[in-house]
Amino acid sequence: MDLKNLYRQVIMDHYKNPRHKGLKGYKQVHLRNPSCGDDIYVEADIHDGVIKEVFHDGSGCSICCSSASVMSEVLTGKDVKTANRIINDYYQMIKGEPIADEDLLEEALVYQGVSQFPARIKCATIAWKAMEELLGESKNEQ
Ligand code: ZN
Repeated sequence: MDLKNLYRQVIMDHYKNPRHKGLKGYKQVHLRNPSCGDDIYVEADIHDGVIKEVFHDGSGCSICCSSASVMSEVLTGKDVKTANRIINDYYQMIKGEPIADEDLLEEALVYQGVSQFPARIKCATIAWKAMEELLGESKNEQ
């Protein structure tokens, strides 16, 4: 099986069986991507500089919903500093730019092909942007 098919399978698996789905009442960011109809909520339980768990809910295309699930899985358990680094590396990958440490991105690497489809970049980054906002807000509180 080639890599592209493997990546597509991972994306479809997260779309059909999303991890960390369902809101719990933690601090929340709601973002929308009108050009595609993506509408997504991200919540995170953050304390002592560590992301205990990320949750998401909403509706949208397969790229948007699956990437919310992948993002939740990759960033749960990370400290805030590492999470910000991963988010930045992810944006760079999506733009087609080289990144320093691919291993940090874990399963999020499956979205590297999105750089060839500029119209889908918003879909692939919306959940990550919501998480970035949450991290920024949690920093202001400390
Ligand atoms: Zn979308």
